[in-house]
Parts: sequence; C-alpha cells; structure tokens
Amino acid sequence: MNLMTLDFASAQDSHDGCDDASHNHAAHDNTAHHHAPAAKPAVPEEVQEAIRTLLRFAGEDPSREGLIDTPARVGRAWLEYCQGYREDPSVHLTRTFEEVGGYDEIVLLRDIPFQSHCEHHMAPITGKASIAYLPNNRVVGISKLARVLHGYARRLQVQERLTAEVAQCIWDHLQPQGVAVVIEAQHGCMTGRGVCTPGVGMVTSRMLGCFLQDASSRREVMSLMGRG
Ligand SMILES: [Zn+2]
Repeated sequence: MNLMTLDFASAQDSHDGCDDASHNHAAHDNTAHHHAPAAKPAVPEEVQEAIRTLLRFAGEDPSREGLIDTPARVGRAWLEYCQGYREDPSVHLTRTFEEVGGYDEIVLLRDIPFQSHCEHHMAPITGKASIAYLPNNRVVGISKLARVLHGYARRLQVQERLTAEVAQCIWDHLQPQGVAVVIEAQHGCMTGRGVCTPGVGMVTSRMLGCFLQDASSRREVMSLMGRG
C-alpha cells in the first residue's frame, strides 16, 4: 500500500530535536566562541534566592564556589524548559499544502524524541512520540508535527494531557480524517526517586476521528507505529 512513514531521524531539520540543555551550557561557558552569544535573559534576584533556598533545603551550601552561578543558570534553564508557555503550537500548522498529488493515506512521524517536565515533581519526562494523521486534502511540512509536540512538551505536563493536547491541536487545525498520537516516556520522578524503577516506560495514546471509530484503521496506524 501507499504510505508516508518517516522515522524522526530522517525528517528532522537543523533545529528540531535539539532539546539538550547541556548544549547550551557548553555554549554559555565557552568564552572563545566565534559567534556573539545571544544575550542571556536576566534572572530576577527573588528567583535566584528561591533556588538558594531550595539548595539549603536539600542540604547544600549555596555559597560554595561550585554553586555560585547555579541559581541564575537554573532560572535560565527553566525559561527554556517552559518555553512553550510563550508559544502557540498551532502556528506551526497554519501553512498547509493542498496539492498532495492525490495522496490520501496515513502520514506518520515516528519516534520523535522529546523532553518535558512533570507538573507534580518538576522532574524530567523523556520519551518518544509517534504522531500520525489521515489527511483531508491538507498536509503540513512533516517537521511541523515535531514542533507542535515540543510546543506542548516545553511546559509542566502530565503525559496524558500532553498526548491529548498534541492530538487535539492537529485535529482542530488540519481537520484531518483521523489523528493518532502515541507517547512512550520515562518519568524522572519514578526512575530517580520514589519507587525507583529505571527502564519502565509509560505509554499513552489518543485516537481521534477514523482511528477512534474504525478498528481496522486503528490497527493499521498502530502497526505502522510498530505497536501492532
Ligand atoms: Zn512526577
């Protein structure tokens, strides 16, 4: 059958997927960098003091040398982790293409890596999402699906809501025949504390339209996602 399935690695453009804050650490700390670094956002003193309070609470001494710049770094890191609050993910779906050469099969972007943070512990959620839709004349550039995901992931989340928000955004703005989103992720609040279960992934899915109503369509998309 005809289908368009792309693994994320073959579809990403230069910026999609670059979520690793450690890249930015490296750039900030490298004073010999050739390009002028982007101006660092200011971190208000009350925010830095809150981080110092947390450090003391955890048993640290915020005045020791290695921690002097940590409150400002943490503040800037959280601006990045929560960048989605200053963004409307649906903007990525405004530019659509109607000339699709009669293509009327499932479009799937598979295994998109992402990072988010849980709203219960502010701990990292790391995982992969597969996003599929069955177009209704309109398609978007494939990397836009990843941008929608990151727009919602860069907020405090619970995995169920993240899954539902990505699906609903595509449903509302592309008006396709169906949307399927499956997310598998590990939660830092489970792997690093509490029950300490590294390696255990949580899977959530949201099906809309034909993938919700028609069992054979759902089987087809789940099998394309490698979950058949
Ligand atoms: Zn949590």
